[in-house]
Amino acid sequence: MGEASLLKGGKMNNSMKRAAREERQQRKLDAGFVAAQFPEVAGIAISMIYNQRGIQKSMPRVVNFFPDSYALFRVDCLNKECVDGGFDLNQVITGMIRNHKEAAKGDLICEGNSTSANHSTIAYEVAIQYT
Ligand SMILES: [Zn+2]
Repeated sequence: MGEASLLKGGKMNNSMKRAAREERQQRKLDAGFVAAQFPEVAGIAISMIYNQRGIQKSMPRVVNFFPDSYALFRVDCLNKECVDGGFDLNQVITGMIRNHKEAAKGDLICEGNSTSANHSTIAYEVAIQYT
């Protein structure tokens, strides 16, 4: 029956990365669209300062979500050695929407595994516009 095996072929590291990528894709599909999940939301902007350990310069980043975006509020880690990392803002943002809050801020540590723990962090600010 199922021909698709995640463990088939390639080096271990590559297949792990591919599995992580496919899992991320599946999570997106499961999450559905912002418009369907949160029809009252017109737009979400996540502004963050990304800090990677060992790199002095911190990087400002902005990620926007729109009604036609997937309702998966996750920001990728920029560390190349990081496997399945990222910053999960789902709880923050769904909590804000539930309370109709327009702004929130905080810090997150990358969830991924790499050679160093705590290899990257973000200081984020979320702004939500409602319809
Ligand atoms: Zn990471």
